[in-house]
Formats: sequence, structure tokens, C-alpha cells
Amino acid sequence: MSRFEKIVLKTLRAPTYPLRVCAVEDVADHYRRIRFAGPELLAAEETPPAFWIRLWIPADGEEYQRAYTVTDVRRDDGTFACEFALHEGEGVASEWARRAEPGQTLRATVYGSKRFAVPAPAPEGYLLVGDPCSLPAINDILRALPEPVPAKVFLLEDHDRLPVAGGDVRWCGSPEEVLAAVRDLGPLPGWHAWVATESALTRQVRGLAQDALGVRKQDVTSQGYWTRGRAMGRARR
Ligand SMILES: Cc1cc2nc3c(=O)[nH]c(=O)nc-3n(C[C@H](O)[C@H](O)[C@H](O)COP(=O)(O)OP(=O)(O)OC[C@H]3O[C@@H](n4cnc5c(N)ncnc54)[C@H](O)[C@@H]3O)c2cc1C
Repeated sequence: MSRFEKIVLKTLRAPTYPLRVCAVEDVADHYRRIRFAGPELLAAEETPPAFWIRLWIPADGEEYQRAYTVTDVRRDDGTFACEFALHEGEGVASEWARRAEPGQTLRATVYGSKRFAVPAPAPEGYLLVGDPCSLPAINDILRALPEPVPAKVFLLEDHDRLPVAGGDVRWCGSPEEVLAAVRDLGPLPGWHAWVATESALTRQVRGLAQDALGVRKQDVTSQGYWTRGRAMGRARR
């Protein structure tokens, strides 16, 4: 059984909740914020920064699983938002988000989201590397960082320069620019690195953080958020 099949089997047993679209907002030309009503999900789950869910996206009579970050949680009215980067390519999730309207329903499975917490004592600083699709998580992490922990944020630019919740921000026009900018930081002893962008770039930045910046292995958190030229996590249910 492949690793992918094992994950699918586990997610089949993981809790799944109904969601209803209650508002759609165009934050920028290629970025949509969709507010979901999900009172059952919020009653059952904690939602720390960078918490994510597996949305089941209907397309062509099937359902495809895609990961999205839960942000702007309003427990009083049982709603939260997901922010969708409307990327190039034939993505079912991106296409669904382009057409989403209030009243539509979806299901979301919760499985595999790790808990983000600032370690105690707090690190010397935070290096956050991402792109528009990890920006909701980065913004929530920035909001959760205690003062006066410094944060350096490197974002791979896609279409839009979106609002960033804090830190020393640099938008980069290419993966090469991201790598050069990270390398140029020099040693960052005692820092924590959080990296979530295209899979190959994520691996490269992780390697650089450890080898060029001297961030300890256990202080690097990284996850590929999408893979160039390939659909991410197709599954049918
Ligand atoms: C833990 C986690 C949390 C995530 N949270 C968010 C979030 O909050 N908001 C968000 O927008 N995304 C988020 N993502 C990324 C999102 O799941 C992927 O971008 C996913 O591939 C989108 O599915 P799709 O059906 O649109 O495209 P797919 O069918 O997966 O891919 C189709 C094509 O589009 C390309 N593609 C996919 N994503 C991107 C992209 N971001 N930029 C450029 N090209 C792309 C692929 O290379 C492929 O060629 C998250 C991913 C993970 C793992």
C-alpha cells in the first residue's frame, strides 16, 4: 500500500464536517477570501495558527481533496475564512473558488494538521518563507508571535502583493531570488524557520536554513504546499 493510499484510508476515518459558503470577497485580482459557516467543525476542533483542513472539492462528478488554511475564526457565529490563491493551471480548487457563491456547500476533513506553538523560551527570531497560498498561515503566525521576537518574511510573488501582518517583508520575483535572499541572511543562531511554498523550493530553503544559516534541524518546520506541474493530493470519496 502506498503512502498516499494510507493517508486516504486514514482520512476516510477522520472527522468530516459540513461547510456552507456564507460570503465571498475578492481581496485582489487573483485572491479570494471565502467565509464558511462550519459550526460543527469549530465546536469540535481547536484552530491554532496555520491550522488546515482537507476540503472536498466537487468536479466532474468526483470529489478532490485539497488543503486550505483556516483563518479569521469567529467562534461566536460559527464561521471562519479560507483564502484561495487563484493560480494559473487547471486546479479544481482554484476553479471552484473562482465560481464560489454564498449558499454552496462542501465537506471538510480534519486530519494531519500539526499544532503551531511558539516554543518557550521564544526563539531569537522567526524566518518565514512562503507565497500567496501560505500567506494565511504566515499572517496568523505573525499575529501569534510574542513581542519583541523579530520576524523576517520572504514571499514568492505570484500576481498580487497581498497584505502581510508584520515582520520585515521582502517579495521575491523568482525561486532563485528567494534562495539568494535567504542565503544572504548569514548565520541566524537560535532562530526558528517556518517554510511552506512550492515543494522543490521548500526542500531547498529547508536545506539552506540548516546548512547556510545554522538553524537547528528541530527548529525548522517545513511543508510543500503545492507541486509545480502536478495536482496536489487527488482523492475520491
Ligand atoms: C497544509 C496546506 C495548507 C494550504 N493552505 C492554502 C491556503 O490557505 N490557500 C491556498 O490558496 N492554498 C493553500 N494550500 C495550497 C493548495 O492546497 C494547493 O495550491 C493546491 O494544489 C490547490 O489545488 P488546485 O486544485 O487548485 O490545483 P491542483 O489540481 O493541485 O494543481 C493544478 C496545477 O496548478 C498548479 N498549482 C497548484 N497550486 C498552485 C499555486 N499555489 N501556485 C501556482 N500554481 C499552482 C500545479 O502545479 C498544477 O500544475 C495549502 C496546502 C497545504 C499542504
